[in-house]
Amino acid sequence: MGFLSDLGKKTSETTGKIAKETKLKLKINDNKGKIEDVYEEIGKKVYEKHVREENIDIKTDLAEQCSKIDELSKEIEDAKLEILKLNQKKLCSKCSAEIEKGATFCPKCGEKQTEEPTVKEEALEKLENGEVAPGKEQEAQEVIEDLKEETKNDGE
Ligand SMILES: [Zn+2]
Repeated sequence: MGFLSDLGKKTSETTGKIAKETKLKLKINDNKGKIEDVYEEIGKKVYEKHVREENIDIKTDLAEQCSKIDELSKEIEDAKLEILKLNQKKLCSKCSAEIEKGATFCPKCGEKQTEEPTVKEEALEKLENGEVAPGKEQEAQEVIEDLKEETKNDGE
């Protein structure tokens, strides 16, 4: 009986992970499409300026479009990292190769991987920014407390 219920749990965990990954991938593709649209707008604006030679303030317009692209690209990077985390993977700090989360060395470039000190910073940052999912506040607080304990012990 234990085996069957464990199996059920595993299956629903996997399904949840796949659903999450699919959602992130859709978001990446969606943003890529949006970036293409912004590129098109930029191209159009530059061309219009060329054709009409009007004194439109192209610089302001382009700055807006460029920051839109920056924003969309950032979201894509974040989604990519989320997918890596879901698959227990991370990026090499040197060559950005996809490697196992627990790897000590990068199999591609040989760079020694540091134990992610960013986890704590990330968690703290998220809590400070109020980016904690509703109902997870308690859990987040506990994680942060744990991390604080760990860091304290490291320092001694
Ligand atoms: Zn590497």
